[in-house]
Order: sequence, then structure tokens, then C-alpha cells
Amino acid sequence: EPACYDVVVIGSGGAGLAAAIQASDRDASVLIVEKMSTIGGNTIKASVGMNAAGTRFQKLKGIDDCKEKFYQESLKGGKGMNNPELLRSFVNNAPEAIEWLADRGIELNDITITGGMSIDRTHRPADRSAVGGFLISGLLRNVNQRDIDVMLDTDVTEILTENGAVSGLRVKNEENEILTIHTKSIVMASGGFSANQEMVVKYRPELKDFVTTNHKGATGSGIALLQSINAGTVDMGEIQIHPTVEQTTSYLISEAIRGGGAILVSQKGERFFNEMETRDKVSAAIIGLPEHYAYIVFDEQVRLNNKAADEYIGKGFVVSADSPRQLADKLGMDMHAFLATLERYNVFVEKQHDEDFGRQTALRHPIHEGPFYAIRIAPGVHHTMGGVTVNTNTEVLDVNKQVIPGAFAAGEVVGGIHGGNRIGGNAVADIIIFGTMAGRNAAYHAQRS
Ligand code: ADP
Repeated sequence: EPACYDVVVIGSGGAGLAAAIQASDRDASVLIVEKMSTIGGNTIKASVGMNAAGTRFQKLKGIDDCKEKFYQESLKGGKGMNNPELLRSFVNNAPEAIEWLADRGIELNDITITGGMSIDRTHRPADRSAVGGFLISGLLRNVNQRDIDVMLDTDVTEILTENGAVSGLRVKNEENEILTIHTKSIVMASGGFSANQEMVVKYRPELKDFVTTNHKGATGSGIALLQSINAGTVDMGEIQIHPTVEQTTSYLISEAIRGGGAILVSQKGERFFNEMETRDKVSAAIIGLPEHYAYIVFDEQVRLNNKAADEYIGKGFVVSADSPRQLADKLGMDMHAFLATLERYNVFVEKQHDEDFGRQTALRHPIHEGPFYAIRIAPGVHHTMGGVTVNTNTEVLDVNKQVIPGAFAAGEVVGGIHGGNRIGGNAVADIIIFGTMAGRNAAYHAQRS
């Protein structure tokens, strides 16, 4: 007897868990299918936070923000390529998504900033830890409180349709058995394809041999599954490389470190770019250096402000020193150049004006409180902005822009929202905003048909 659910969610990252919880809260019976043996997808690695403009938590901190600014800055960061309707819906629904989480005990009430934004609007946990682990454990707690079934080590291999509408799935479980599941609504929340070298290189040959920050499951199989029922795709060649990736471990060094006041320094001991520019531009600047890498440099004040810094120190790739001199020495850098760089940057902080590179945000405090730290970084493949086409109701559109009944999608598997470059903090916002919307609409569809 085949299993039967109102809604089946494919993928257990942020988008999938949010969709499952919301569908369950609308009285749907829900199954989550995850091909890996753990919950959390790539979301569990998310570092900096969740962007939203005009939230209660911003108001509590006296931060005056508006949706239009958030929209315009995301559009500019995306090189103007973002789908305007999706981006508008994203911006409009962001504060509600912050409250949706808070209502479920997942409060993101501390706020920082990311590259390309002019205002502190990146919401993160009160203890300033990385957002991913906090988010996934909170969502999982909510999944467990509800009657939501989860199948791990189970790969969706086929989407079944009847008269063009979704009618079920075929999955392969951990025993390699092929099972059929009946459902009228699926939510594809299978993430991006950054970990699929072949697929990345197909669209962007120059990214061959780049490391990736992503978990192994980011293979893009959800895109192929939806394409097999005629879904359209958009922006497939738009692949983001993140500027600050530790290369021996592929560990992403959070933008919160720069947002907390860190700078980037070349092997010559010099700053070379506005650290708070968007990811595409900062990455290009690092690749443009003769050595193709740089150091992210910060002091004790930055460390105290970011829990992730201690995690990096624990990983063993942070060079620390009691003085800037000693740090330069350990990095094999020209000491005079490095000292002059710090001194000059500290004057810019004092004046709140970066004469050299026009950094306008996160000139938080002078870098002068020991110990001093450096991490050697270079870019790595981080986010695939392209994916399947959807409308503003998270319904998957076919190659002719027609709705495929019963197919919903949310999260990194979807293309168009982030245009040519995703802003840091906009992926977590994306998965919660559109994950909850997909869950709600999928439940409604199942109950109506
Ligand atoms: P998002 O940020 O959009 O939520 P994530 O990368 O966090 O995306 O999560 C996507 C999840 O989907 C991952 O855990 C991944 O292993 C899972 N997944 C991808 N393809 C399949 C598939 N064919 N069947 C089941 N699970 C899948």
C-alpha cells in the first residue's frame, strides 16, 4: 500500500523545514524527504543572518529602515537582473517572516550588516552566533512538535504526473528500494548546485577547480527533476563566488567579520578594495591580486563581537599575534607597509571616511586591541542564483510560463530573485519567506483538489 500525504517536501534545509511546518500548521499531512543522512542541507552552514527591512527588532534598536531601500540595494547588488515581482514580494514579506520565526521560538533579534547594504538589517541570534545552526535546530524542534514524517537517506528520483498535474513521487530509500508516494502537492526545496562541479563548469568554465563552501548534497538534482516535468529555468549561469573562503578547509569566513569591522589586506600588507562591497566585486578584487588571495585581518574587539571567530580559531587556521608587528612577521608581510595600513585605516574610522576605497559601512572601530588575527582567504563557489522559474505564489512555471499544478518550489532551487549577485543575508530571508509561502500554498492546493 503506497504512502499518501497532502504535501511532500523535498529537502530538509531552511526552505523545506519552513514549508513543512507551515503546511502542517494549515492542517496538511506532511512528509519531508531528504537524500542525505542529516537534516539541515546547506542552510546549516549559513553564517551571517537574515535580511529584512522595517522589523520590530530594528525599531527596538533605533534603526530606521525602509522596504524601498532594501529593494533598491538588493536590485543594485543583483546588477539589476533580479525578477522585479519576486524581489518585491521578497522585500514586502520579510518582516512577517522574521515574526513567523519569532512566533515559533526562533528569535533573530541582534542585527548586523553585509556587503552592498547601507543599513544594519541582517538579523541574527542574540548571542551573535552563526544563523544556520540556530535556525535549523529551531525549525527541527518545530518539526518534531508537529506530526511531520521525515525520511532520511531517501532520494527523490522521479516526479509523477497525471494530466499535467503532480500526482506523486518515486523515491529510493536507504535500502535502495524504489517506493511510490501519492501526493497532489510537492514543495521542491532541494537547494542549489554549487557542489556539482560538472554542472558549475558547464555554465561557467572559468570556475573549474574553485573550492566550494557547500555541503555535498548541493547537486542541483531538484532542478533536473522539475525540468523533466517541463519546468523552465532562468539565470543558470549566474553563480556566486564568495570572497572569503579558507582554502584548505573550504570554510566560509562570515561576512559578519567584515561587518563587525575587519579589513582585507594583501600579501604586500596593503588594503586593496572596499571590504563592504558586494561579493562579486570583492571576489574579483582578490582574484585580481598577483597572488590571488588575501588576508582578513581583525582585532580582539571584532572577535568578541562574533561567535564565529572563536569557531575559526578552534579550526586552527587563524594566525594570532600579540601585536601588529608580530602578525606581519608571522604572515611574511612587509611590516612597515602593514603598520602604515592599520594606522591609515584607523584614521579613516576616526573620521568615518575611507579616503582610499570609499568604504561607507562597518567602519566600526579602530583595529588596535590585541590580540590581532588574520585568516588567509580566497574566493570559492558559494551560491547558484539561477534555478527553476516560479511565480509570486511559489508555483513552478513551465517553459511556457504556465503553472504546473501541484508543483511548488522555494529556496536556492528557484532562480530569478537574486539576479546576478546575491546579497549576504538574502538567502536565509529567501528560504523563510518563500518556504512558508510554498508550504501554505501547497497545503491549500492539496485540500482543494
Ligand atoms: P535551501 O537553502 O534552499 O533550503 P538547502 O541546501 O539548505 O536549500 O537544502 C536542500 C536539501 O535538499 C539538502 O539537504 C539536500 O540534501 C536535499 N536534496 C537535494 N536533492 C534532493 C533529492 N533529489 N531528494 C531528496 N533530497 C534532496
